[in-house]
Order: sequence, then C-alpha cells, then structure tokens
Amino acid sequence: MLYIGVDLGGTGIKAGLVNEKGKILAKGSMLTHAERPYQAIIADIAALCNKVAAEGGVKVSDVAAVGVGVPGICDPKTGIIPMCTNLGWHGVPFVQEMRKYIDRPVIVDNDATVAGLAEAVAGVSAGSQTSVFITLGTGVGGGIIINGRPFSGAHGVGSEIGHMIVKMDGELCTCGNRGCFERYASATAIIREARIAVAAHPESAIMARCGGNPEKINAKIVIDCAKEADPVAKRVFDEYVKGLAYGIVSIINILDPEIIVLGGGVSNAGKFLLDSVREEVEKLVFIKAMPHALIELARLGSDAGIIGAAMLGR
Ligand SMILES: [Zn+2]
Repeated sequence: MLYIGVDLGGTGIKAGLVNEKGKILAKGSMLTHAERPYQAIIADIAALCNKVAAEGGVKVSDVAAVGVGVPGICDPKTGIIPMCTNLGWHGVPFVQEMRKYIDRPVIVDNDATVAGLAEAVAGVSAGSQTSVFITLGTGVGGGIIINGRPFSGAHGVGSEIGHMIVKMDGELCTCGNRGCFERYASATAIIREARIAVAAHPESAIMARCGGNPEKINAKIVIDCAKEADPVAKRVFDEYVKGLAYGIVSIINILDPEIIVLGGGVSNAGKFLLDSVREEVEKLVFIKAMPHALIELARLGSDAGIIGAAMLGR
C-alpha cells in the first residue's frame, strides 16, 4: 500500500510517496508563497502530489490516501483548518478544496502530531503503543499517539501541549494566557532569559558569542556556552531544563506514556539536553517506585513531516 504525505510549511511545501513502513520512495518540494489565496496554494499542493506519484511510477489514484501536516490548528474530523498563523489561514476548508483535484481520501492534522506519528511508525518510538512527541522550537508543539493513532481530542484541538499552563500568572503567551508551557520550554524562552541574564552579567561568554548584541542571541549560542560551562549560560540552561521537566512530568502524571520524544531545534543540543532533562524528571516523578516514560530524542529529522503525514492515511 502506498501513501502520499505532505509537509505544509509557511516557507516551503514538501511531499513524498511513502510505503506502509514509512519509507520514502520519491519526494519533491516547492515554495509556499504564503501571501497567495489558499485556493492557489492548495492547487499547487495537489500538483506536487501528482508529481511525486509520477516520480514513484504511480498515479495519485493508485495511493490509499493523501495526508497533510499543517503548522496550525486542524480539525481532522471536518478537514477544516480553523487557524494557521504561518499561512494567515482562518477557517480554510482544506480537504474540500483538495478533493477538487484529488479523488482519494485526504486527511489533515497538526504538524507536531504528524511528526509524533512518524517517530511512532519509523523512528525512535517505533513499536510503542503510547507516545508523546514534543517539538521544542520557536513555540512548543505536541503530538499524542495512542494505540498507534494520533489523538486529537473530542474537538480536534487536543495535544496542544505548548499551551498547558505550568505557572499561574506566569509569562504572557502568544495565545493570550499566562504561564503556558511553551513560555518556558521553547527556544524563545532560552533567548528571553539569556537576554535578561546578560544585561546583569555582560561578562558572560554569551555576549562575546553574539558580538555584544543581545538581539543576536539564539538558543544554540546559549546552549553551546552552557556546554562550555559559562556560569550565566549554565544558569539559563538549567532553568530551561527545569521548565521543560515540569511539563514532561505533568504529561507523565496524566498519560503515563511509554515514551516521550523530544524534537525541534532545541533537541539538537543532543545528549547534553537529554541527560539534564532525564535527571530533572527523575527528581519530580510522583511514584518513584514505578517505572516511567523513557525520554528520547527524535530520530527522523526533516523527513518526519512527510512520513508522518503519509501515515495519517494508514
Ligand atoms: Zn499559550
């Protein structure tokens, strides 16, 4: 059985022909040009699906389904995208529009859910029944996979792990609430705290690394300086890990999954991040006598979007 997976982003669109094991057989990409009307973008997505099918030696009508990962809120049940900030979409009838061009089932879901599904089929969480995927990027996205299927809740808006409130009256979030997990566990949080820290401690290695301009601080600079034991960077990093661990422990306490997978830009910190997070989580788990979720790094990298989207059709 073959599937097409589409990874729709604000800048680029990638698509691939994928087999039932999550192996990509052909792939292609194009620029999104997000300023265009959604109808034009969707027409191009359909054309890209035809192209990757042809490259794989089949027709779109031969695939079982087309799955699409979207960087926003999706309603998989109606196929409508209520909100996608990157594309400026509100209430876009995505599946209905795609079906004008493609006579196969079309399934949409959130990009973090899709990446989580990819890992659960062909990545680090393969073989697990229950897994939670957390993307640590500009924001924090979440994907919950239960019995091999993505869980989106009763209204399609579940698994918004980034907006789980971890601190009452905490930092203001882009969603309008305060104290959301992503205010503490995103790359944005590292940058915010590092800027505050270097204002008080301009002697930090972070300042030298960003050329004396705190506007140029990014998460990688801070994490690199923490790895090199710069005390200011280390404090920022340790606080970050604590915030991340609070959210992870809340997920463990609610869902008790087999595995929690960390992806997104911050996860490139690798073992340095993983060891610190595991240690912090260990301190916070509620029932210490019982085993708890493994914490691992995502393995599939940039292909996860295509593979996971394709697997929505399984
Ligand atoms: Zn929020």
